[in-house]
Amino acid sequence: MDLKGKVAIVTGGSLGIGCSIALDLAANGADVAINYRKHADEANAVVAQMEKMGRRGLAVQADVASFADAQRMVDTVREKFGRLDILVNNAGINRDGVVWKLTEAQWDEVLDTNLKGYFNYIRAAALVFKEQGSGKIVNITSINGLRGKFGQSNYSAAKAGIVGLTKAVARELGKFSVNVNAVAPGLIETDMMRDAPQDVKDKALAEIVLGRLGAPEEVAHVVTFLCSDLARHVTGEVIKVDGGQYI
Ligand code: NDP
Repeated sequence: MDLKGKVAIVTGGSLGIGCSIALDLAANGADVAINYRKHADEANAVVAQMEKMGRRGLAVQADVASFADAQRMVDTVREKFGRLDILVNNAGINRDGVVWKLTEAQWDEVLDTNLKGYFNYIRAAALVFKEQGSGKIVNITSINGLRGKFGQSNYSAAKAGIVGLTKAVARELGKFSVNVNAVAPGLIETDMMRDAPQDVKDKALAEIVLGRLGAPEEVAHVVTFLCSDLARHVTGEVIKVDGGQYI
């Protein structure tokens, strides 16, 4: 896929799926800026890997839950790289608990990061994409936003919200030739999942018809496709990358 000359932002690019997406976009020719909240060394290592590929990379410490940080990040990228073509909203957290035990703080933290965080970046990028008459937005949701997960009412609500957000924004930006899609992974082996209880992983594994957990790169390849010209007539879609876990 040819993304030469394109400039991308990937939120939460220091680890896991976001790191794989950033590297895959770079491997296909894009210059990529990532943000992170805590893992500065990991984020800088991702940038170093992209630079080794001959691409420009940038790591910015920016909390996706902050509206002001999102605008600052988009401004910084346009200043340094001269343009913006692709936004991948990926940064996410989980703070699990059954609903009768969930605290207000757990609810707010997950909704602020996983849903408002996506709005913040779309809001900042939309004006740029609208004015230039092109752009790609890919939002990482989850199959748990499509079916609801026990112990994850906050996370499932945020991820379901991303689906509505994706479809509404696809309608709003379609006439400006901006594609807006979502990717819904099933269980993928990353830090987020490494600490999950073994019985949760075993249960997920039993559901996955391909018989194995997914790898971050397998999500990344689908995101890269959606960011490429090959997917130019695809918008408002939610594509599962789950080895058949949702079937
Ligand atoms: P990881 O925990 O491995 O990585 C999360 C990334 O998000 C890190 O780079 C982290 O950066 C960043 N991040 C978290 N909070 C913030 C914040 N407030 N501001 C900026 N960056 C932040 O998660 P995964 O890679 O597993 O998950 C990535 C996405 O995929 C999430 O949206 C998740 O919900 C979704 N997903 C994951 C699945 C899985 O099985 N792993 C399944 C379905 C969906 P840092 O730590 O440096 O702050």
